[in-house]
Amino acid sequence: MGQKLAAGNWKMNGTAADLAEVEALKAAHPTSTVDILLCPPATLLSRMSDVAKGVIATGGQDCHANASGAHTGDTSAAMLVDAGASYVILGHSERRTDHGETDTDVNAKAQAALANTLIAVVCVGETEAQRDAGQTLTVIGTQLKGSIPEGATGATVVVAYEPVWAIGTGKVPTLEQIAEVHDFMRAELTARFGDTAADMRLLYGGSVKPSNASEIFATSNVDGALVGGASLKAAEFSGIIKALE
Ligand code: PGA
Repeated sequence: MGQKLAAGNWKMNGTAADLAEVEALKAAHPTSTVDILLCPPATLLSRMSDVAKGVIATGGQDCHANASGAHTGDTSAAMLVDAGASYVILGHSERRTDHGETDTDVNAKAQAALANTLIAVVCVGETEAQRDAGQTLTVIGTQLKGSIPEGATGATVVVAYEPVWAIGTGKVPTLEQIAEVHDFMRAELTARFGDTAADMRLLYGGSVKPSNASEIFATSNVDGALVGGASLKAAEFSGIIKALE
């Protein structure tokens, strides 16, 4: 099994003043038995990486599939590395919705990430309508197949299961529902990638809080969490990290 991972996604939140939270998180976990990751907006990545260095890894929230060129507003994988990142979140449902990203797009971005030695955190998840229609595993299977590139290994790819209806809503699937999807993902990834899939970290994301983290982390094939709102404040994120340690 890969090293457990507590990942924070700051989304479109955070300016220099918020780096105090990173200092506080570092002080609370000077050493940890788990990997800690924060993914700030691109504008803060370099400064956060300087503050976080040696204790907390940093990552981008997206990257372009191309190395450089005429792509106004975009950031390449190499630029993220240059700013101190070692991870990049790809295919988050907000990117899929706000920017129309498809599995094919996510796959191309993941290839760029891997080529630049970034660990890709590939997000998948069903909508509420898809769950109600009994399509959850079909949707997840299709997203996994389409979004994760050939040659992925346990060291280079992390998968985050984030039911769209659980993100930022306070609604969380039952532990049985989480286990069903995570067991399914492990089986699908093992069928495709072989033994290395045992080391691929499978994160759960969607309304994770200190109060529900322990039971989620005790669930089958859950190797950590991708946390949005509760990663913004050191005290709250620390509670989640402690549940994983
Ligand atoms: P949330 O977001 O923890 O605020 O629900 C999770 C995510 O989108 O990664």
